Amino acid sequence: MTAVALPATGLLRRVRTETAVPPRPAGDPGLVDRFGRRAVDLRVSLTERCNLRCTYCMPAEGLPVIPTDALMTAAEIERLVRLGAEHLGVRKVRFTGGEPLLRADLVDIVTRCAALGVELSLTTNAIGLAARAQALRDAGLERVNVSLDTVDPDVFATVTRRPFLARVLEGVAAADAAGLGVKVNAVLLRGVNDHLAVDLLTWCLERGHELRFIEQMPLDPGHAWDGTSMVTAAETRAMLGERYVLTPDQAPRDGAPAERFRVAPRETGEDLGTVGVIASVTESFCADCTRTRLTAEGHVRSCLFSDQESDLLGLMRDGASDEQVLDRWRLAMWAKPRDHGDDADGMVHPTRGMSAIGG
Ligand code: SAM
Ligand code: SF4
Repeated sequence: MTAVALPATGLLRRVRTETAVPPRPAGDPGLVDRFGRRAVDLRVSLTERCNLRCTYCMPAEGLPVIPTDALMTAAEIERLVRLGAEHLGVRKVRFTGGEPLLRADLVDIVTRCAALGVELSLTTNAIGLAARAQALRDAGLERVNVSLDTVDPDVFATVTRRPFLARVLEGVAAADAAGLGVKVNAVLLRGVNDHLAVDLLTWCLERGHELRFIEQMPLDPGHAWDGTSMVTAAETRAMLGERYVLTPDQAPRDGAPAERFRVAPRETGEDLGTVGVIASVTESFCADCTRTRLTAEGHVRSCLFSDQESDLLGLMRDGASDEQVLDRWRLAMWAKPRDHGDDADGMVHPTRGMSAIGG
């Protein structure tokens, strides 16, 4: 591992240098890697800033701010998405962060990218979504994935360190009314919100929102994760099973990380919808990964759990041609690690947290 000082942000970051990566053979123009995977889903982080402080994601004091001029502009994002869509096989783009709604130019970014023929979605905490949901829908956004770990206001304030549940619920309702598809993502923490998992599922089923539980991953920048607060996918399924019968959904997963179940109450057996459980830690799905990521500073990140990043924004600002940018992106993905379990604990704890990488 090499310590690298990044002048744009002032952050000190450890970057793993893999010397054993064989050269990428010429031929396939897409984002293929050494293990035969092909990345077609692009996650684009728009900012590292956030108005919540979820305990599993951000430290209470927040993170060092990245100067605005070090972030990708709307035009730079459009160029990278265009290159991905036209030359690399990218089919889906999800904007994330930090909190993407904190970008004042979000509607402009969506408008530009919607013209490129890719499916667009947004991962958000929904604060401020009420005011912008219709404009985002009109601009071409199709779906939102809202992070909501509980609908109990006190527990929400404990998990996020902010008393903003009402604003989140307002955002969810507005997204629904605007015709955006709404999915809900929840992280369960042992002894904090896990006793409310069934209530959250009931709340989502009543509103027709698909809920997905995600195991807590070692992506907190404070590196406090030791697995003890993580509620495993197996535990989650067992808790939900106390009130509902979960039947594995027969629809093909198509590389999607969530194991999906049809949900029916034990008493009536009526089919109420689906729930997803994502075993990001206990049941690795790295072999089927289809993702490529851009950090808010325009670095390609081939894997959440690898500290390797490759700077596309710097290259573009130095005047690189499309072909030079494409080559660097392809090379970064060629070096993608096989999986994230390569340390003694079975799970690498990357230097940057989820909010800085883009979840
Ligand atoms: N702020 C937006 C939000 O919360 O949806 C987008 C960024 S957030 C980093 C994206 C997703 O990452 C959220 O669904 C959040 O729950 C998830 N996340 C953050 N830290 C995590 C962790 N340590 N383990 C599992 N999921 C995490
Ligand atoms: Fe912010 Fe999303 Fe991280 Fe929560 S999970 S602190 S909302 S970036």
